[in-house]
Amino acid sequence: MTLQIKNISKVYSNGVQALRDVTLSIPNGMYGLLGPNGAGKSTLMRTLATLQEPDSGSIFLDGIDVLKQKDEVRQTLGYLPQEFGLYPKAKAEDLLDYFAVLKGITNRASRKEVVEALLKQTNLWEKRRQKLGGFSGGMKQRFGVAVALLGNPKLMIVDEPTAGLDPAERVRFLNLLSEVGENSVVILSTHIVEDVSELCTRMAIINKGQILQEAEPLQAVAALKGKIWRRIIEKRMLPDFEREHKIISTKLLGGRTVIHIYSEADPGSGYEAVAPDLEDAYFTTMAGYHQNHQPQKEGEVQP
Ligand code: ADP
Repeated sequence: MTLQIKNISKVYSNGVQALRDVTLSIPNGMYGLLGPNGAGKSTLMRTLATLQEPDSGSIFLDGIDVLKQKDEVRQTLGYLPQEFGLYPKAKAEDLLDYFAVLKGITNRASRKEVVEALLKQTNLWEKRRQKLGGFSGGMKQRFGVAVALLGNPKLMIVDEPTAGLDPAERVRFLNLLSEVGENSVVILSTHIVEDVSELCTRMAIINKGQILQEAEPLQAVAALKGKIWRRIIEKRMLPDFEREHKIISTKLLGGRTVIHIYSEADPGSGYEAVAPDLEDAYFTTMAGYHQNHQPQKEGEVQP
């Protein structure tokens, strides 16, 4: 199963260009769409989920024309939106059962089986008789996954799911998603670099509606080997360093300011080489210091 997104553009009526000629090829497994707030992630996710129209471009999920055959897509789609309303007074098991009916699982016995399996898979079986209003953020998100998984979707779209989760809930949630990714295309949109580095075999970096880079996280990191340097500086000196070097990130560490710079040659004394990580790759790309690294197309000859 492959999702082919070609030349998708979208300008909202207020003139904001949310997507600019987006082209991506997304295979089975976990795919990360990484970008800051306002980059266009939700716009792309909602378009894939058939909830809004692009101005131009095409999207195919294998043989299905996503922009035209909306009913077919919806039958095979699981969508976990950024924010979803729950009925706070409903119990988890009852509400999931209700959604299962809506999804067309009308046979009572098979519905019971499906609901039980999903509550167990999402680790909510013990909480099945609790009201959703009392659920923690992580439990709500896992319930959202259970709903999205009804009907065995081949395409799962998850929009900014880890924002607001505590670290333990986040790990549990990501583990659940990676299980889902074993059997379907899962697209995870996020502004959190760690979500992608821990989970995704492929990723795209998006900013201002444009895909800046499409790569495997491990390759993107490897490509920076020997090019990232760090230095501890006094904060007031930052403008001087900015003039001299390509600063990709500025962080506080134990009350001190640490800068990472991009340089193909040794920048000299005071700097130490660091092993790059995905955050360096992300910031290097965002800062425009890294060439777009398009994946090799099948049959293409390497120069
Ligand atoms: P992200 O999910 O990466 O934060 P969005 O897709 O939500 O990005 O937004 C991309 C851009 O489009 C932002 O500038 C946002 O303000 C704008 N935008 C999003 N939705 C609408 C809308 N319905 N009408 C007008 N502008 C919108």
